[in-house]
Amino acid sequence: MKSHVKALVVGGGAVGTSIAYHLARAGWDDVVLMERDELTSGSTWHAAGLLPYFNMSYATTHIHDYSIKFYKTLEEETGLNAGFSVVGNLRMAQSKERMDEYMLYASTAETCGVPYEWMTPAQIKERWPLVRTEDLEGAIYHPTDGYINPADVTIAMAKGARQRGVVVERRWQVDSYHWTGEAWEVTCTKMVERGGNLVPSDERVVITAEHVVTATGNHAQRTAKLLGIKIPAIPVEHQFIVTEPDAALLEYRKTHGEHPVLRDADAKWYVREERGGWILGPYERNAPARFAYGVPDSFRADLFPLDLERIEEEYMSMIHRIPSSETVGLKDDFNGPICYTPDGNPLIGPAPGLRNMWLAEGFSFGITAAGGAGKYLADLMVEGEAEIDMASLDPKRFGSWMTTDYAVAKNEEAYEHVYILHHPDEERPAARPLRTSPAYDRQKAAGAQFGQVNGWERPNYYAPEGFDDHAARSFQRGGWWQYAEEEARAIREGVGLIDATAFTKHSVYGPGATAFLDWFTCNKLPRVGRINLTYALTSAGTTRTEYTIVRLAENDYYLVSAGAWSDYDRDYLLKALEDWNSGENEWVGVQDVTTQWGVFAIAGPKTREVLNELIRDAEPETALSNKRFPWLSCREIELGMCPVRAVRVAYTGELGWELHHPIEMQNYLWDQLMQAGEKHGLKLVGARAQNWLRQEKSYRAFGTELGRDATPLEAGLDRFVDLEKEFFGKEAMIKTGVRSTCVTLLIDGPQDADPWGREVLYAGDKRVGRLTSGGYSVAFGKSIGMGYVSPDCAAVGTKLKVKMFDKLWDAEVVEDSPYDPTNATIRKNIVG
Ligand SMILES: Cc1cc2nc3c(=O)[nH]c(=O)nc-3n(C[C@H](O)[C@H](O)[C@H](O)COP(=O)(O)OP(=O)(O)OC[C@H]3O[C@@H](n4cnc5c(N)ncnc54)[C@H](O)[C@@H]3O)c2cc1C
Repeated sequence: MKSHVKALVVGGGAVGTSIAYHLARAGWDDVVLMERDELTSGSTWHAAGLLPYFNMSYATTHIHDYSIKFYKTLEEETGLNAGFSVVGNLRMAQSKERMDEYMLYASTAETCGVPYEWMTPAQIKERWPLVRTEDLEGAIYHPTDGYINPADVTIAMAKGARQRGVVVERRWQVDSYHWTGEAWEVTCTKMVERGGNLVPSDERVVITAEHVVTATGNHAQRTAKLLGIKIPAIPVEHQFIVTEPDAALLEYRKTHGEHPVLRDADAKWYVREERGGWILGPYERNAPARFAYGVPDSFRADLFPLDLERIEEEYMSMIHRIPSSETVGLKDDFNGPICYTPDGNPLIGPAPGLRNMWLAEGFSFGITAAGGAGKYLADLMVEGEAEIDMASLDPKRFGSWMTTDYAVAKNEEAYEHVYILHHPDEERPAARPLRTSPAYDRQKAAGAQFGQVNGWERPNYYAPEGFDDHAARSFQRGGWWQYAEEEARAIREGVGLIDATAFTKHSVYGPGATAFLDWFTCNKLPRVGRINLTYALTSAGTTRTEYTIVRLAENDYYLVSAGAWSDYDRDYLLKALEDWNSGENEWVGVQDVTTQWGVFAIAGPKTREVLNELIRDAEPETALSNKRFPWLSCREIELGMCPVRAVRVAYTGELGWELHHPIEMQNYLWDQLMQAGEKHGLKLVGARAQNWLRQEKSYRAFGTELGRDATPLEAGLDRFVDLEKEFFGKEAMIKTGVRSTCVTLLIDGPQDADPWGREVLYAGDKRVGRLTSGGYSVAFGKSIGMGYVSPDCAAVGTKLKVKMFDKLWDAEVVEDSPYDPTNATIRKNIVG
């Protein structure tokens, strides 16, 4: 056994094995893969091996795409057949709405170059006559995927890894981790068989590893405990059943090839052939979470008893779809733990608060994802970044407020939602409300329809009493659209109030604060009392975080960043500061003050009228003038009895202020604003209208236009990058150049629909980019979007096409900030 390694990968399932393989392939020649039992003895052994391309996420689609291509190369490399049956994958739709979902998905798939075809019910019937089609609308067909043997592909990856120098240690369990400041000391115990159980022996070793990756599958809760962190990966029961041979299928197969993997999403199942019979895999309601506090020692490669009653509906619907299956008996069943996370995506990336500790946990489609997860995690570890933005999979996207009960409720929900229609405007109900700002009840009473961001309840829009948000969801303009439109108009023409309490806020202070932030971010720092928009970069020069920096005093800063990413931002800041403070630099302190400050954003031409009613000042009539309170500055003001840190900036691109206030005074301030606003027509505005308005100003949003796959220069943010100074990531940013460019587009789309920000862009018949945001512009009376295109398509006036509902619609690249390009309305002074 080696005592010192570059990387120790813990867990010999499909995921860990792929990571070890890809680390070696990326050039790390000192990698050990440690497995407590046998390779594939976790969830991997009982997976059905399906490799579905279908995924609504850009990053995950890339991961699946890589896996599928990679698995096809394994035999040539290792001589082992991974059992890949490229039978295709037919995803059927019972409703027009389901077809709309597939069309939105297909547009996303095209951005990654994933091949697909459309099929009518008649075409399906002709090719696969055993399938009942009269109640189908159609289907999307992926010819290049299918299913694989999970154990075989894992063993092939393990062989490939060994060929590249990886040492695989079986029957060793990792029992503790200790960070020395430079490396991990990992204590491992030899596991032995005793009476059919796997038990620890007295034999122990300590391995020193520069990097550790955990890929411990259903054991994630034990891993979390050993590391002293939270990992919201808790398994849920998942069953599949195998039938006896079906005579009709056997007859059909005499003259035809194998059926593709069939998916009847509306019936919530997949079906594939298995030795002349069928495998049915349902994603039913009420599948319970298991092992919330860890896997019992007695559970090895075990299964739970079949719960046929729970999947009766899905079983009957399989018989409906494939009538010949009615008379065949059951041959086998599997009910195993399948790991889930609150949003159904895995947790891949650096562990919160720890150095050189990488998580690869919570895989529910781990066979499909293993190849790509291994490749992109290895890129992150070896190169510092991956070519795709891994933020949406980062373990820190779930905050430290997360608890076991939350993870259980959300993971069960994520499982059930695998086949539930995914409206792009969906809001899932489990574990809500949980994090509420004090004004929540008032907002609710005013008709707020909430969305959940990082656990926070945040109004999406306001609707009349009795309005049903669920019924209002759509792939076109939903029932909520008219309310968002009125709200957006109110900000452009009158005045509106948005609750932005969920913003992430950090206080950075101390004698070294200015020097630190100057190095940590790419823009000039503001003068005292002023603010700046700036970016912290990755080592690859891409955008890690967007900050509005408020300089309160010489060495006292207030940093505001996106609400969805609190722990993600905090971790990066804390780790950078730890490095800073351990050097020769002057000391810097940081505090997460997110939950201490509420934020209301008030904006619109009549903003001053409302605030003037409340402001307490020796000269109230000039307190908000350009002279005393210029654009992009910050002042401490008093609104009635509430002390407010007011920041003159508006994400909607209209005259406005962000009113940062002590959270405990939020309801007082809310009531004051409502009262004062009444006679000026103050309208409550939600996040959807705000999202549209910011696109009219070409304001990039984190997680859409801004991420780790583009530099600020590619994002078109040159004016926020000070090339005169040195900052972290600068050299890499310059070296990267501009591979693609962020643009704003006005779109002549369908009369009743706007893009959602995932659609593919064409110039003629050439694929040139993708949308990252979409919506409706009240200023231009048509759809709007932002996205990335190849630099030769970025000039103002370039005519492009956007694919929506399987048709190409005209789009034109417009100048940045098509609404009020000179910022005249934002800078408007007091009259007189
Ligand atoms: C019934 C069923 C059907 C499924 N079908 C599919 C499918 O068709 N397609 C698909 O993509 N996915 C499917 N899945 C999901 C798939 O099985 C998992 O996503 C995948 O196996 C996860 O792989 P993994 O490597 O993350 O975890 P695992 O395979 O569970 O591997 C984790 C390994 O870590 C080891 N380990 C844990 N702790 C330690 C420690 N401290 N020290 C050393 N070793 C440790 C464990 O022994 C285990 O071998 C299915 C799951 C179920 C239950």
